[in-house]
Amino acid sequence: MTTKCRKCSTPAIIYQPYSGLHLCRKHFFEDVERKAKLTMRQRYPVKKNDVIAVGFSGGKDSSVALLLMHKIFGDRPDIRIVAITIDEGIDGYRNHSIERTREMTERLGIEHIVRSFKDEYGKSMDELVTEKKMVENRYSDDKKEVGPCSYCGVLRKKILNKAARDIGATKLVIGHNLDDEAQTIMLNHFRGDVERMVRFSAANELDGFILRVKPLRKIPEKEIALYAYLNDLPMELTACPHSFGALRKEVRRLLNSFEVNHPGTKYSLVRGYDTMVPLIAQALDTSAMQDCQICGEPCNDTVCQACKMLEKGAID
Ligand code: SF4
Ligand code: ZN
Repeated sequence: MTTKCRKCSTPAIIYQPYSGLHLCRKHFFEDVERKAKLTMRQRYPVKKNDVIAVGFSGGKDSSVALLLMHKIFGDRPDIRIVAITIDEGIDGYRNHSIERTREMTERLGIEHIVRSFKDEYGKSMDELVTEKKMVENRYSDDKKEVGPCSYCGVLRKKILNKAARDIGATKLVIGHNLDDEAQTIMLNHFRGDVERMVRFSAANELDGFILRVKPLRKIPEKEIALYAYLNDLPMELTACPHSFGALRKEVRRLLNSFEVNHPGTKYSLVRGYDTMVPLIAQALDTSAMQDCQICGEPCNDTVCQACKMLEKGAID
């Protein structure tokens, strides 16, 4: 016997252990869209004449984030939505996804900008990996030893922020889902990095940094994947050749097994974090910003993380 949707009598396509609900396609779509809208309203309220930049890699998360922004705000004449794709220069991986990002933005009629590592830093990610002889991005007490994903993440974030600022963006949407959020929170706990934990939250605007907005932070990764699939959105099927991230994989496994045994764990982690961070932020002033002495971009030190990496191959 097929299980029926809790909200109507149509056959269900998904079961959410954390809510106890079986949902049909229509009600699943409604649930995803409701969660994204609620997150936007409560955490990142959109104002008149906002320019919403969307970091759009062409993977499932950013594709869903872009589609949802288009669905929620696409009809508002005062809101401008611009997709920004960063070409890290990873052969056999990013070149394919860039094609897919173009197809999707053309189909939806959304403005699209592509910026590359090569243009910004003079080197592609492939070249940097060879040049810096990057090691596996494992958990280590030696914070100087960073792997490809740390490089890539810091360098990408910097271009994204610059590109968003160049177009006058007031918000920068990124496709972090519930699993990404929960994993990052755990990782920062494991590293004992309270300052980063506060900065990661950054629900407030800081000088020179475009407010990072995460409409998918309350939607589990599996549901994002299903939503992307049912909407025929681009999904990244090839793995990045530089992807290691051993510690994150471990944390991911741990959280997934917790979620199976104790549904709702990921939500609890994020909820607890949201309650805790404003209290810590008051005690720890992480809002002081200055201009990087090398590139002039805003940062919380004399030299920004991206310049430290490119100069010395290390971060603090
Ligand atoms: Fe960059 Fe790592 Fe993602 Fe590859 S897996 S694109 S190196 S962050
Ligand atoms: Zn239904």
